[in-house]
Amino acid sequence: MAPPKVPDIKALARELRAGDRAALARAITLIESRRADHQAAARDLVQALLPSTGKAIRVGITGSPGVGKSTTIDALGMYLIEHGQRLAVLAVDPSSARTGGSILGDKTRMARLAASEHAYIRPSPASGTLGGVAAKTREAMLLCEAAGFDVILVETVGIGQSETAVADMTDFFLALMLPGAGDELQGIKKGLVEIADMIAINKADGDNVKSANRAAADYRSALHLLSSRSERWHPPVVTYSALTGAGIAELWQKILDHRTAMTASGDFAARRREQQVKWMWSMLEQRMLARLRADASTRARVKKIESDVADGRLAPAVAAGQMMELL
Ligand code: GDP
Repeated sequence: MAPPKVPDIKALARELRAGDRAALARAITLIESRRADHQAAARDLVQALLPSTGKAIRVGITGSPGVGKSTTIDALGMYLIEHGQRLAVLAVDPSSARTGGSILGDKTRMARLAASEHAYIRPSPASGTLGGVAAKTREAMLLCEAAGFDVILVETVGIGQSETAVADMTDFFLALMLPGAGDELQGIKKGLVEIADMIAINKADGDNVKSANRAAADYRSALHLLSSRSERWHPPVVTYSALTGAGIAELWQKILDHRTAMTASGDFAARRREQQVKWMWSMLEQRMLARLRADASTRARVKKIESDVADGRLAPAVAAGQMMELL
């Protein structure tokens, strides 16, 4: 899959900025490549494109399998396209490293969007640690912005760490839930609500409307007891139907309201600044760990140190020092 040669970064950046989809796809493939020369080229590319990034609305979406993420993204995406927006859909799927493929971001799940020239869908990078997958998705997001997409949706599944990673790269984090409280209220306990900017209860259609409203009331009272992410934004709870489209416009309006409020208060810029610095540290961590896996002899050294620590032959502090020397 990796391109054989290192591409001409200047030309690639130019084509990408002009909105060339094939160039965008090639650029993301370059970012996802594990080859050292590709990675160096990818860093140059992102640096070159940096002035063209940052203008999109970045929205993270999470929810358990079956909650309706793909149906929602399809419906919301078509709504945005009808309103003149172009959107990119990316995914962070930590399970893809194990299974070799990501279900999230799969084009067949979003049939209408996949057929639209105003949408670009890219599945989760399929290799590496969660940190690595998330870092690559974040860079793909920057490339999509440089290519002129107005809205970036980053999808993930309801697993703690991947949710935090997506919340850390987006402006707005949307948690999807099902009608019928009980189990779903677990999300509140697990700390999801501390990072969610809105809870949206899907499938509020047909016989489900009543239970969706009841669930919304439960979430609202539960949220009341918790402190939210920002003093200026108390996460609303809404109901909608991805199937009929009822409530989709209102849902998007909340995201715009959030942006307006956070921009006015300065929280928007502060959050982006904070995220950028956080990503620098995260990427440094990635690169240090990659260094320890770089070649067979280093890997063997690391393994030896590890087993010496496990067997009690080497103090962890001394071992950490030896690891530092390896770096
Ligand atoms: P995902 O696993 O979170 O991506 O969920 P999907 O989007 O694949 O949806 C799971 C199932 O729920 C599918 O059978 C959808 O047709 C159904 N579904 C999604 N949204 C709605 C909705 O708003 N109302 C109803 N009744 N069913 C929905």
